[in-house]
Amino acid sequence: MRIGILGGGQLARMMALAGTPLGLRFRFFDTHADAPAGHVGELHVGSFEDHVAIDRFCADCDVITYEFENIPAHIVERIERLHQVLPGSQPLRIGQDRINEKTFFKSRGVDTHDFRAVSDRASFDAAIRDIGLPAVIKTTRMGYDGKGQGVAHTVHEAESLWATLGASPLIVEKFVKFDRELSAIAVRSAQGEVRFYDWTHNTHRGGILRVSRAGVTPADPQAASRARETIAKAMSDMNYVGVMAVELFEVGGRLLFNESAPRVHNSSHWTMDGARCGQFENHCRAVAGLPLGDVTREHDCAMVNLIGRLPSIESVAAIQGARIHYYGKAERAGRKVGHINIVRRGDMTARDFERSVTQAITLAEDSNA
Ligand code: AMP
Repeated sequence: MRIGILGGGQLARMMALAGTPLGLRFRFFDTHADAPAGHVGELHVGSFEDHVAIDRFCADCDVITYEFENIPAHIVERIERLHQVLPGSQPLRIGQDRINEKTFFKSRGVDTHDFRAVSDRASFDAAIRDIGLPAVIKTTRMGYDGKGQGVAHTVHEAESLWATLGASPLIVEKFVKFDRELSAIAVRSAQGEVRFYDWTHNTHRGGILRVSRAGVTPADPQAASRARETIAKAMSDMNYVGVMAVELFEVGGRLLFNESAPRVHNSSHWTMDGARCGQFENHCRAVAGLPLGDVTREHDCAMVNLIGRLPSIESVAAIQGARIHYYGKAERAGRKVGHINIVRRGDMTARDFERSVTQAITLAEDSNA
């Protein structure tokens, strides 16, 4: 069976590395000839708007999936007329617009903080009045890694965010003084079975994910199981097949939906080394119509992102329990070029594990200098 992946970045590359042992074959479509998935499979290079190139790419693929959510939905809709695309264009259409996304998940019972849609100056002023300050102001589309958004603490700051972002449709959100940022990672099979990986605690800096720690316990178990039930309902209502990530704010036991990603996700890279079946293999299994793998976490695990620059293999290998994942990308400021998973195996003590996590974070900081 051949899986075609729209996008040839590190997520596509790690999907292929995980799915190849299942006997699956992979083909990637990307706009860049140096896309890192091209190192591990057949890469087609072209514009997403080039129908001929897209048709050639899809021709003998059994199923198409995607590794990023900003592919124009109309392109995926067009492919869907002739080929099976999983998770399909509907999750893309919902997820590409923050208002649609929050409205959809809220309507399925997922708890979220207050927000307003803004289309012009009058609705912006009304939103700021209703939500109050501080407020978070974001473009509804194409935002990632903290881009296209800002926090307004004062009327003056709201005014300057309007000046920079106001040309696009906006969402104004209540500023949540969260205790922690958590993610829920689920995989849904073609038969409708949903499995969740352990909860993950994420730490961001400069809008970019830095560290994810697996297996944290949400403060309110009831809120946690309600969040999972409602996320599973949302997936089922979208006929979703594959891995989905949902980012939530934990505040005083409540779990508030922030955003979702209709794809494998950076906060779940720990599952590659810490769970019986990692997110990449499980996404491949789901879209290929195979039974899902076991999502049980086997080890304490933490993931540290490498941003901008790669430390030497020797320096990572010197850290006890470290597993190296380099993406084969050129180093550039602000770019995710790899990650380190710290896995507590065998007789490694909890203290040794913590020391290794700290060493990996320090190494990542050094290499970001
Ligand atoms: P997003 O692009 O929505 O994932 O936002 C990027 C980061 O900004 C999040 O991971 C949070 O740390 C922060 N953030 C986003 N929305 C809010 C909010 N409503 N209240 C507080 N912090 C937020």
